[in-house]
Amino acid sequence: MNLVSLSIGVFLLFSAACALFLRKKSMVDRLRGTRELLETVLRNGSFGERIPLSGNDELTALSASVNSVLSSCEDFAENIPDPLFITDEEGALHYINREARETLQYEKGELLGTRLFSLFEDEPRRLRHHGGDSPVFEGALLRKDGTTFPVELHSQVFTRGEKRLSLTVARDLAERKALEKNLKKIAWTERTTGLPNRANFIQTLDDLLESEETPFSAMLLDLDRFRNINNVLGPRNGDQVLSIIGGRIANCLSAEDAPACFGGGLFAVALKGRCDWESAAPVSRKIKENVTRPVSIDGQSVFPSVSMGVLLRAETSRSSAEIIAKTETALAKAKNKGIGHFALFSEDDAAGADILTSERELSQGLHNGEFVLHYQPIHRMADDSLVGFEALLRWNHPQRGLVMPDGFIPLAEETGLIVRIDRWVLAKACREIAVWEKALPARRGKFFISVNASGRSLSEENYPTHVLEATEEARILPTSLIIELTEGSLIRNPHDISEQLTRIREVGVSIALDDFGTGYSSLQYLNSLPIDKIKIDKGFVQRIFSGDEHRRLIKGILALAADLGMETVAEGIETDAEFRWLLERGAVYGQGYYLGRPESADVAFEKLKTAYGL
Ligand code: C2E
Ligand code: MG
Ligand code: MG
Repeated sequence: MNLVSLSIGVFLLFSAACALFLRKKSMVDRLRGTRELLETVLRNGSFGERIPLSGNDELTALSASVNSVLSSCEDFAENIPDPLFITDEEGALHYINREARETLQYEKGELLGTRLFSLFEDEPRRLRHHGGDSPVFEGALLRKDGTTFPVELHSQVFTRGEKRLSLTVARDLAERKALEKNLKKIAWTERTTGLPNRANFIQTLDDLLESEETPFSAMLLDLDRFRNINNVLGPRNGDQVLSIIGGRIANCLSAEDAPACFGGGLFAVALKGRCDWESAAPVSRKIKENVTRPVSIDGQSVFPSVSMGVLLRAETSRSSAEIIAKTETALAKAKNKGIGHFALFSEDDAAGADILTSERELSQGLHNGEFVLHYQPIHRMADDSLVGFEALLRWNHPQRGLVMPDGFIPLAEETGLIVRIDRWVLAKACREIAVWEKALPARRGKFFISVNASGRSLSEENYPTHVLEATEEARILPTSLIIELTEGSLIRNPHDISEQLTRIREVGVSIALDDFGTGYSSLQYLNSLPIDKIKIDKGFVQRIFSGDEHRRLIKGILALAADLGMETVAEGIETDAEFRWLLERGAVYGQGYYLGRPESADVAFEKLKTAYGL
C-alpha cells in the first residue's frame, strides 16, 4: 500500500515537475518569439508582422496588446497622406505605405526589396544645404505606367544596433513646380508687350559676353512722345500702342536676335552676329519703317516715331551695365538731333558725356562721405501701422546730384567695392537705429531697419561677424535689424550659404529674401535656407489687376510662404486697391509709394514719432 502510495506520489510529483517544465519552456519560447518578432519589426520596419495568438493566458493578452500597437503603427504609416518608404543601408525597400503604392501604381509587397532610388527617372539630386543625418533629395518618381512626378524626399536615419534604417517621406512638388514656372515667366517678361524685360535682357547680354563667341550689336529704341500718346489716348490705349510696337519690332528680327521692352516706351535689341554698321543698318531701317506705320486705336490714328541709339561691337564692353550705358548715350545723342533719328555710340561720347562712372570716382565718393541713406516705411498690413524702414542707398554726387542705386550699384558689384559700401550702410543704419531708440526709449525693439546686402558681401566669410559687430558698436538690439538678400545672390554663393545665414540669425538678426520671384532659384531652395521673410517683388504687386493668372500667382506665393513658415512683405504697393487686395490675401507687411516714399533720416524719424503719437 505504502509502496503504491509512494509510487503514485512520485508519479504525481514528476508529472507536476514535467508540466511545470513544459509550461515554462513554452512561456520562454513564446516570449523569445515575441522578442524576436519585435526586433525584426525594429530592424526592418516591417509593421505588417504579428505575434501568433494561442490560448487565453496573460501572455496571450500581452501579445494581443503588442499586436494592437503594431497595427496602430501600421495604420498610422499607411494613412500618412504622403508616400512613405522604409529602406535599409543598401536603399532596399522594407516598407511602402498605401499612398506610395497607390501613387506609384504597385500592389502591396510588389516593391519590397527593390532599391528606392531605382523608382526614380534619374538618380535623385541631394539638395546641398541639407547635410548630416537628414538629407533632402529632389527627383522625379516613376509610376508603373512610365509617367513621372516631381518630389522632394525627406529622410531620417535611425540606428538599430548594427543596422541603419531610413524613413523617407516624398512630398509632391507638382504644384510648387507649376508656381515656379509661372513665376519665372512673369519675372522675365514685360507686362504690356509680353517681350523679355530689362532683367531678362541684362541676362541675355551677360550670357553673350560670357560665351565670347558671338560678336553683336545692341540698340536702344525710344518711342518718341510716348508720354503724349499716353496722355491723349489714356493709359490703357497707350499700353495697346506699346504692345503693337513691340510686335512690330520683334517681327523685324531674326530668330537669334533678342528684343526686349524696358517699359515706358523704351525697347532694346541685341543683334547677334551683326557687329558692323553694314549688317546692322538694314535691321534698324526695317524697324524704323515698320514702327512708323500709323496705328489706329479707338477710331484715332497715332503716328509713332522712334529714336535709336546703336552700339556696334558690343562684345568688346566689360559688362552688360556698360553696354546699356553706352546705348543710352547714343540714344541721348539721337534725341538731341530731334525726333526719329538714330545715332551710333563712339568712345568719344563716353569721355564727353562722362556717363561711365569710374571705379575711382565711386571709391572717392565713399571716402568723401557722399553716400546717404534714405528710409522707406514698412507697414504691418493688419492695422496699417508703421513697423520699420528699408534703408536705401543714394549717392550725393557733387556734379550729378542724387544718383539712384541703379546708377552705381552694378559697377560697385562688378569691382567688388560693394563689400565696402555694404559695410558702410550696415554701420550707418545701425547708428540710425541707435539714435532713434535713444530718442524714443519706450519704443526700443518695437521697430526695425532693413538693410540690403549684396551677394558679394554675403560670400565674405567674416560677414556674420561684421553684422554682429555693427549691432554691438551701435548698442542696438540685433532684433531691430533685418538683412535683405536677393535670390540671385543666394544662388551664386557657395554651399556654405546656409551656415552664413544661420550665423547671422544666431545673433538675433533676421533674414529677408528680397525681390522674390525675380531670381531663378527653385522654390525648393527656399525651403532649405533659414529665411524669416519673403519680399514679394513689386513687379508682381503691380500686376495684381492685370489678370486672374497674376492674382493666382501672388496667392500661390503667399500660400507657399505660409507653408514654409515665413512672413511676407509685399513691395511696391502704389494704390489703395492693391493694399486691400493683399491685406485680404494675408500679406503680413507692405511697402510702397502708397505707404510712403524713401525719405531722408530726419523725415523718416518724424514719421516714426507721428506713428507713436509723439
Ligand atoms: P530693393 O531692395 O528691392 O528696394 C526697393 C526699391 O523699390 C527701391 O528702389 C524703392 O525706392 C523702390 N520702390 C519702393 N516702393 C515702390 C513703389 O511703390 N513703386 C515703385 N515703382 N518703386 C518702389 P531704389 O531705392 O532705387 O533701390 C533699388 C535697388 O538698389 C534696391 O532694390 C536694392 O536692390 C539696391 N540697393 C539699394 N540700397 C542698397 C544698399 O545699401 N546695398 C545694396 N547692396 N543694394 C542696395
Ligand atoms: Mg531691398
Ligand atoms: Mg526689393
